[in-house]
Amino acid sequence: MRVVLIGAPGSGKGTQALRLAGHYGATHLAAGDRLRAEVASGNELGRRLAGYLSRGDLVPDDLVIELMWRPIVEAAATGGYVLDGFPRTLAQAEAAYAMGTQAGVTAHAAVYLEGDAQALVGRMLRRAGTGGRTDDVESVIRHRLEVFELLTAPLVEHYAGRGMLVRVDAMAEVDAVTAAIEAALEPLRPAAD
Ligand code: ADP
Repeated sequence: MRVVLIGAPGSGKGTQALRLAGHYGATHLAAGDRLRAEVASGNELGRRLAGYLSRGDLVPDDLVIELMWRPIVEAAATGGYVLDGFPRTLAQAEAAYAMGTQAGVTAHAAVYLEGDAQALVGRMLRRAGTGGRTDDVESVIRHRLEVFELLTAPLVEHYAGRGMLVRVDAMAEVDAVTAAIEAALEPLRPAAD
């Protein structure tokens, strides 16, 4: 199974992605984790990325595509993927679709974790500072949400247009969200995976 998760910061993408990957025997690929690992390694790419992450701005499309592409192809060959935080712009989605079509690894479904922006900020503020992330301070959280609305929310229409979108209420209790996603994905599940 190959799934893309879309959701604002605080929507529970990471938690749900991990659970879905377990459920489908797929690989959880988190763009943010990979970018933070580059920053932590202190290499030249990591130094270029650090400022974007701490400001809550998206890193340039070509860098994130470059970083994610090989893991996507590898995961597709071994049980599929659950993409968490990629694609995050229309340009990324279009590039992934074009490359994915060539390689036979396009997603079967996209899940939109819908949540009220104000409630999501509240959720994030409660967890802020506990994970050691430099972008978990209120001003940056608010900015990440704006970036989501502006640049990532249009992906919902992109995937709806491809007939592969499911919408799930992100504000429900965590197990209920997982159950809702799994139920909604069942009709989109490929026969062979
Ligand atoms: P969240 O969804 O909570 O904001 P992530 O861990 O998914 O957290 O992303 C953290 C940061 O990593 C983003 O604010 C952005 O700077 C960068 N990032 C993650 N994924 C992408 C992407 N696909 N394209 C560009 N930047 C990204």
